[in-house]
Amino acid sequence: MKIAIVGAGFSGLEAAHRLNDLGHETTIFEARDRVGGRCHTVREGDAVFEAGGEWIDADHDRVLKRMLEFSQNLLPAPEEPRGIIYKGEWISEDNLWEAAESDAVDLENNAVSLSGKLVFPGWENEGFYDLDDETLEGLVAQICQSEVGKWWVSAQLRSDEGDDPERIGLLGWLLGYRLYLDREGAEMSAFRFENGASALAEQMAVGLGIRLNTKVSEIHQDIDGVTVDGHPFDLVVITVPPSVTRQIRFKPGLPDTAHLSQERCEMSRAIKLTWQFKNNFWNGTLGNGNLHWDGKLQQIWDAGLGSAPILSAYICGQEALDILASGDPLEVGLAELEQIFPTARGEFVKGWVSDWIHDPFAKGAFSHLAPGYVFGGMQYIAEPVGRVYFAGEHTAKWTGFIEGALESGERVAQEIHETWS
Ligand SMILES: Cc1cc2nc3c(=O)[nH]c(=O)nc-3n(C[C@H](O)[C@H](O)[C@H](O)COP(=O)(O)OP(=O)(O)OC[C@H]3O[C@@H](n4cnc5c(N)ncnc54)[C@H](O)[C@@H]3O)c2cc1C
Repeated sequence: MKIAIVGAGFSGLEAAHRLNDLGHETTIFEARDRVGGRCHTVREGDAVFEAGGEWIDADHDRVLKRMLEFSQNLLPAPEEPRGIIYKGEWISEDNLWEAAESDAVDLENNAVSLSGKLVFPGWENEGFYDLDDETLEGLVAQICQSEVGKWWVSAQLRSDEGDDPERIGLLGWLLGYRLYLDREGAEMSAFRFENGASALAEQMAVGLGIRLNTKVSEIHQDIDGVTVDGHPFDLVVITVPPSVTRQIRFKPGLPDTAHLSQERCEMSRAIKLTWQFKNNFWNGTLGNGNLHWDGKLQQIWDAGLGSAPILSAYICGQEALDILASGDPLEVGLAELEQIFPTARGEFVKGWVSDWIHDPFAKGAFSHLAPGYVFGGMQYIAEPVGRVYFAGEHTAKWTGFIEGALESGERVAQEIHETWS
């Protein structure tokens, strides 16, 4: 079959590989001038860093397998514990305040007990409707006894989910937690891409039919086939984020269920700010530049993949919007950095803002399961509509991850092959 794929992120690239292997003919339409989508390795001279997806868990097997196949090396995460700064006090992550440790353990025990009762797919958890309307913030408020514990637990959840816990649905979060219960060797954020995530995407793209700089606006379908902005195909696979799918015109229009699922599948508000410095002045300090703190930058790490000294801040939720609204996020961030590293300004060379919230082809960093979504839309997010199929991390069990993008490409190829061969 002749199959169009909209989007050359990891889900689109994986779908193309799988469909080609099954004997189909694919063409990818990509709006940007590059492949990789929300994974983008910035390479400017000696400065090399990830603007988007960066970390790989130890059991993200699909990613690891593709890396091996395309001779891409893994870079292990730093072994030293991260530093934490709260109300001016520095401590090491492996020596938490007792109250914070106790709250974190209580939250974990609660999550293990609640999520252990859940099944997949999520919408089959009848009897848990109430949890779907509750928020992760509600659970934190219920469990955490201390101020510092509440801050620490919320800071970690915000970073994992890419948004404030008040926007995350409790049932959706527990389903994600359920995945962790079943894992073995599941160290989180264990690796990154030695040559950058873009290198893997670029390798995967070799030999595929990809039309870059080609934004898809309109898809028609009838009983004989589809047209993608006038180009005829047998089928089309949409891999763009739900926030962007809403801007594509479908004729005939998508059913209400599909609309509902796209509308309710929310995207996390996360950005990265990145600074290049003359020297690694953070080396030898607690955490070696890998810090969580209660300031505006939330979390920073040594993000350099090239020879230039680089720090990135990963800022999620309302604080990301606030720092963007300041008009000069790099300057605001530098002023914050100076509070921790007084020499930062003098060492500053260059900076980058990776604003995924306003990126026209992403409109958010990655999907999360918002309150009400598990029973109010999730069951339709990956459901094909005639000849129109859906993939992308938001349609996967591994929601939000590069692993989820690959999982969805694999799933959609199988689904198409089984239905149409
Ligand atoms: C800041 C940030 C940090 C992250 N950190 C991690 C991490 O550490 N680990 C991890 O596993 N994941 C992380 N992620 C998530 C990960 O990057 C994504 O889950 C994954 O890359 C999504 O791949 P995808 O193929 O589903 O979507 P995308 O990569 O978004 O691919 C969709 C493609 O469609 C294109 N497109 C959009 N609209 C159109 C159109 N109209 N016509 C044609 N093409 C179009 C887009 O340009 C894009 O290339 C992070 C993401 C961000 C933004």
